[in-house]
Amino acid sequence: MQVTKKFHSTMNIEEILGEIIDALHTAYPSFLVHLLLSQEWKVKADIPTKPLTYGEETGNKIVEHAYLTGDIQIDQTGERMTLYVPLRGKQGVYGVMEIKSSQTVILPRSEIDFIQMLADTGGNALENAELYQQSRNLIHDLQLINETSHQLNLNLRLADTINFMVQQIIESFGAEHVGFIMFHPKGESTVLEGSTELFLKEDTQVKLDSLITKMKREKDPIYFGDLESQEKQYLTEYKSMLVVPMIQSNELKGMVLAVHRLPYYFTFENFKLLQSLVHHSTLAFTNSMLHEELERLVITDHLTKLYSRSHLDERIQDSMYKDGQGAFLLLDIDNFKLINDTFGHQVGDDIIIQVANVMKKNIRTDDIAARWGGEELAIYLPRVELSIAITIAERIVQTVAIETSPRVTVSIGVSHWSAYKNPPSLDHLFKEADQALYRAKETGKNQVVVSDWNKEKGMEGV
Ligand code: GH3
Ligand code: MG
Ligand code: MG
Repeated sequence: MQVTKKFHSTMNIEEILGEIIDALHTAYPSFLVHLLLSQEWKVKADIPTKPLTYGEETGNKIVEHAYLTGDIQIDQTGERMTLYVPLRGKQGVYGVMEIKSSQTVILPRSEIDFIQMLADTGGNALENAELYQQSRNLIHDLQLINETSHQLNLNLRLADTINFMVQQIIESFGAEHVGFIMFHPKGESTVLEGSTELFLKEDTQVKLDSLITKMKREKDPIYFGDLESQEKQYLTEYKSMLVVPMIQSNELKGMVLAVHRLPYYFTFENFKLLQSLVHHSTLAFTNSMLHEELERLVITDHLTKLYSRSHLDERIQDSMYKDGQGAFLLLDIDNFKLINDTFGHQVGDDIIIQVANVMKKNIRTDDIAARWGGEELAIYLPRVELSIAITIAERIVQTVAIETSPRVTVSIGVSHWSAYKNPPSLDHLFKEADQALYRAKETGKNQVVVSDWNKEKGMEGV
């Protein structure tokens, strides 16, 4: 009764094991008691425990029998008698008590029943404590997943999201390095920014090639306890590795790796928890990536509402493919630093908008006016002759000088391609306009200069 009361008052495995030993010592002071435990519980040194081993080589057949059947076993072979009493709970057996008598004694049935009852009470208490610990671990894991999901819902930039996840994995599992690798639809894969430095090294990426191939084929999480013993070692210094696929809407998006130098560093629980974390974060990742891809694809510049540089590039390429000719105007505001210094950046921004509006008014809907960068703007005129392009450029220069407030002037460099005179090349078209613009600046600003490329070929026929 005393022992039972104590058992019920604690959820601490160590205390329960200590109580079992004390109770037996009190009842049978001359007996030698050991606890053979099937689980790796950490206990104080003064509790006599041994790991419970079974199997052909090391196992004691009688212990094994007691453990597997859950029935008490009595070994009378030596001079002493040894009892093997299973520590039974409702869901399993948690170990075996080994009780050696000091000399040959015959224990009456009632004593054996008492010992078994004590063991059962202990077994149940151990089971409760173990379940309690398991549920606490589970709560901890759920809290981690919950906190992670919450962070990921804050709509961070992709690199921030990855940074956060990498820190979580390092803190929760003690990983030395963490890598996020994305697979692209065309087959290539990239290590995402925010992964730890090991994964950003080029040779690491080469070493992981075959693992990536394996992941793409099997799409399963992999637990490597000791890579030393594996045929493929991937990252030689790192013996422990967890690999978890990122799957979204049944599609493999990438994989997450956590590594440690020491073999068997990660527990199986770590492995399971990492899978949960990755499962919960993949949607946030794919969303951030889509979002950034969208930003890149956005075709208008925020400040001026002109087209973006990337859209301009695309449209020119398109025109070079299907049109016979086209003209390119590169515009730069004169002495703009001075405007910013005199009136401030806000007014500077407003002037860029004013110039952009003048440009829009002087072109047709088919033409493409774009923000080239900073205070440099550009216009592409598909199928337009050089002479017309020059006229448009001059009109813009004149209008800007009259209509802007505070007043600014602009310089424009013009280049032109045509299928039969100077074959289309995007780079060349840009370079020529840039050089013409440079000369416009050199020779007084507030003017239009045409590329030499076009002049040398002669103006006739354009
Ligand atoms: P230049 O006549 O030779 O073109 O002289 P500049 O002073 O205009 O010189 P430059 O074109 O090299 O310098 C452009 C300046 O424009 C530098 C930068 O501070 C400013 N700038 C670039 N982008 C913006 C912007 O978006 N807003 C504002 N307000 N200023 C910008
Ligand atoms: Mg400039
Ligand atoms: Mg300028």
